[in-house]
Amino acid sequence: MWNSFFERIKGQLSDITYETWFSETKLLSLDDGVAKVLVPSHVHKKNLKENYIDLIEEKFAEVAGTIFKFEFFTEEELANEIVVNTDEIGIPLNNFETNLDSKYTFDNFVIGNSNKFAATSALAVAEQPGKMYNPLFIYGSSGLGKTHLMHAIGNYITQNNKKMKVLYIPCDKFVSDFVEICRKSANENNMEAIKQFKNKYREIDVLIIDDIHNLVGATSAQQEFFNTFNELYNNKKQIVISSDRSPEDIKKLEERLRTRFNWGLQIDILPPEFELRMNIINKKIEMQEMGTKFPEEVKEYIASNCVGDIRKLEGAITRVYAYATIMNGSDITLDLAVEALKDFFVQRIIAKNKIDQVIQLVSENYNISAEDLKSKKKTNNIAIPRQIAMYICRIYLEENLTKIGIEFGGKNHTTVMHAVDKIKKEILKDEALNNEIQKIINRIH
Ligand code: ADP
Ligand code: MG
Repeated sequence: MWNSFFERIKGQLSDITYETWFSETKLLSLDDGVAKVLVPSHVHKKNLKENYIDLIEEKFAEVAGTIFKFEFFTEEELANEIVVNTDEIGIPLNNFETNLDSKYTFDNFVIGNSNKFAATSALAVAEQPGKMYNPLFIYGSSGLGKTHLMHAIGNYITQNNKKMKVLYIPCDKFVSDFVEICRKSANENNMEAIKQFKNKYREIDVLIIDDIHNLVGATSAQQEFFNTFNELYNNKKQIVISSDRSPEDIKKLEERLRTRFNWGLQIDILPPEFELRMNIINKKIEMQEMGTKFPEEVKEYIASNCVGDIRKLEGAITRVYAYATIMNGSDITLDLAVEALKDFFVQRIIAKNKIDQVIQLVSENYNISAEDLKSKKKTNNIAIPRQIAMYICRIYLEENLTKIGIEFGGKNHTTVMHAVDKIKKEILKDEALNNEIQKIINRIH
């Protein structure tokens, strides 16, 4: 009977589905309208029960002539005469692919002032998905822990609520999947793939979509994301979004999406302060379990030189360890670290003071050299950035005019004063310039 059942059900399924879920099952007994079936694992049990039961009952009834209820058992359950409730097993429904990376958790996310709000809102969402803040929108520049927090939310939810379907997806993957499927189905004149894609997204409980700024330009995908968003939101499903800038700053993002993002909570992560950088270094060293001593001054050296990016901080630690290993397991010292990180830190000449930092940032911004900025050259492409830099030093750093003059290649304090006044007037008329300067100031932040 089971073999003719197989013959019938094969026609309804893809080969892979049949092979994976059915080919190793055995019919144990038929009693009192109940069919008992032996399955290889709990995963099989859960999946057959939750996703194939209607089909199984229908096809088996065709063979048996009457409807049976189905019960599934593993070898182990039969041997021990116990039955495991699959609801409690940590297998996502449908063998649902969550894309979550288990190495990112709340436990190993180090908290400081700059990321405290982001971390606590993330945890609040993880504890009560769909209830607290929806959508949760986390933004900040690269390497500050957005992706880490998003996986942490997902991992927390799947651990505490096994029934929830969580999906983590980088936005560009969402876009490319969608575009690919549209292209395919246009060629093959087949709407089924698009339908499946839509359904896949509509049936999740928690959608975590990373780097949403990549949605820009993908018009059809924006439309599809908008639909998905609405559907999930209306069904009180949690949506978590990250971006490298705030919704207002994502140009070409459709207004209606921007409005949606404003419905929930927007939180920014700022670059880590020195203390947080030190704490993260300590945590990473703790996790390495190398046993090699990592002196305080080396930590401080790394923390002072990796300012705006935690990924870079991790890279520096790895390099120092690697270098010590290459040097036959020698002790880690400041000299060794400086040597190991020589090329790693080179791009950023370490600024000797704040004015110097501004000079570097502004010259980078306008693609001219710091030397030019400090020179006497009067062409507009150099003179204007120089005035802007002086303005920032005066207004933002509140440095005195004489000191600014000295750092800018020995200029008179009246020159600095004129520059500051000029920019002050310009920004009243020129909004673009004002924004440009704000951006530079944000980077100094
Ligand atoms: P983003 O997505 O913002 O670019 P990531 O989440 O990828 O940044 O973080 C970069 C690296 O820094 C990751 O390896 C991450 O684990 C680590 N990291 C970031 N913030 C923290 C933190 N607060 N505590 C521990 N590790 C962190
Ligand atoms: Mg990221």
